[in-house]
Amino acid sequence: MLKLVLCCILSYSFAGFAQLNDARRITKTLCSEEFHGRGYVNNGVEIASQFIAKEFKKIGAKPIKRNYYQAFQHAVNTFPGEMLVKQNERVLKPGTHFIVDSKSGGGKFDLYPNKITIATALNKQLLEEELKKMFLEKKFNAISFNSSHLSLDTLKKLETLKDELAHFIPVIEIVQSKFTWSVASEQLQFPIIQLHDSVYQQNAHYTIHIEAIELPNFTSKNVIAYLPGKNKKLAPFVFTAHYDHLGRMGSETYFPGANDNASGVAMLLEIARYFKANKPERSIYFIAFAGEEAGLLGSKHFVEHPLIPLKNIGFLMNVDIMGSGEDGVTIVNATLFEKAFKQLVAINEEQHFLKTIKSRGPAANSDHYWFTKAGVPAFFMYTMGPNKNYHDVFDTFDALSFNEFNDIHQILIQFCQHFKTN
Ligand SMILES: [Zn+2]
Repeated sequence: MLKLVLCCILSYSFAGFAQLNDARRITKTLCSEEFHGRGYVNNGVEIASQFIAKEFKKIGAKPIKRNYYQAFQHAVNTFPGEMLVKQNERVLKPGTHFIVDSKSGGGKFDLYPNKITIATALNKQLLEEELKKMFLEKKFNAISFNSSHLSLDTLKKLETLKDELAHFIPVIEIVQSKFTWSVASEQLQFPIIQLHDSVYQQNAHYTIHIEAIELPNFTSKNVIAYLPGKNKKLAPFVFTAHYDHLGRMGSETYFPGANDNASGVAMLLEIARYFKANKPERSIYFIAFAGEEAGLLGSKHFVEHPLIPLKNIGFLMNVDIMGSGEDGVTIVNATLFEKAFKQLVAINEEQHFLKTIKSRGPAANSDHYWFTKAGVPAFFMYTMGPNKNYHDVFDTFDALSFNEFNDIHQILIQFCQHFKTN
């Protein structure tokens, strides 16, 4: 008997180890330099989509159609080559000292910025006078301002202003907070550079060489697999996680996107692996979305061209940022599906998995959004913890703890078999 118990415990813990080893391997691979930050330079997203399809195949999860892919086209602004910003004689480091705005245009410039106050920037008349003076005196050929310590409201206004200015002049924004990069589908005429306050020098001159290329018809692919359940009458469950990230900002710098969302893809694949070995009651679909960072484009395309009837979906769980979790998880849409949320909380409390499962209302912050809009019951789960590296070059594999990965895996497996909608 003791032997049997011991054997059970050992095989259970080995199963746990294997799953975490696979999760780490998948995350590490997706974050490696050869995947180029799963963006558009060197077709990193394509490399990632092939890797995920191969993993689905290895696990034994089947494609819905002939293959695992659903392709769609979109525009995207990219930075494939030069990314030089020199402040006087000092060459600044991309990602650490500066980033370019995702909409930034490119070009080669010698810049002498006119530093204006926020009050001037936000006053149309004052700004126009300042610009007129600049063009007459020809002493300055760029605008700079310091946007540290501003309210969200003011920052929003500045965002619009930056875009307007960059239609006809380069812009340098000095920031004190951490850099948060993104992806844009359009390109402005001139560069917008965010420069960190810690390196900024008053009255400096800038030598800039940035290559920016707008790709109007880039092909991205959602990667979709499924596992048939025992009972065909039960409404299927759908797990989703986006696999795209921000890609490269110049030929030397890439954004690995470990937490966001290589870790979520690892969770998706580990759930598939579990249910391949333990046949589920209901059928389960797995969708790795592309184009999330570029504006939830992959999920939008899927909802507009569904490969499974949307009305048949029992519940959808979208996961992102799965590498942490020391402070629990947050559930977006919790207030829309109270019964399902209570179930999640009950699973967690009975088995003491996570510190907390926090409730949040609806938000258009990831791929669940289009499904919610189309009437599909859906949650979006993301972890909370000490890892705050988000959309920056520090979101690396080594910064992930995976401390709660197994617990979240357990919660999701139990929830998907027994969920109740309102
Ligand atoms: Zn994400």
